[in-house]
Amino acid sequence: MSCSICNEEITADPNGWDGGHNAEPINNGRCCGSCNESIVTPARFGNYIIENGIKDIEYMKRDMLKMMDKIDDLNQSIINIKYLLKNKQADELQNIVDQQSFEDHKGVK
Ligand SMILES: [Zn+2]
Repeated sequence: MSCSICNEEITADPNGWDGGHNAEPINNGRCCGSCNESIVTPARFGNYIIENGIKDIEYMKRDMLKMMDKIDDLNQSIINIKYLLKNKQADELQNIVDQQSFEDHKGVK
């Protein structure tokens, strides 16, 4: 089955599910994980705000602050990587990547 948004073949999720995701409100077909994350979910979020207004502003603010923390982390990682690449410290870079995947897994649990 191919994605109704990007036309790429829909590949199975880690849990084996290969039926893709509901592509609404973009269209009424199925879509791949990547489109679900980058297109469908933001569109739903946008629709939610349009329909509900911003009465949930405090809730949104909390989520935004969480996102900002993530962006800060990301910025710091990019700065570190740039520095290490410039100084060709490949081993050190690998350590940071390993550490980051470890942290990610801890977060998911
Ligand atoms: Zn897609």
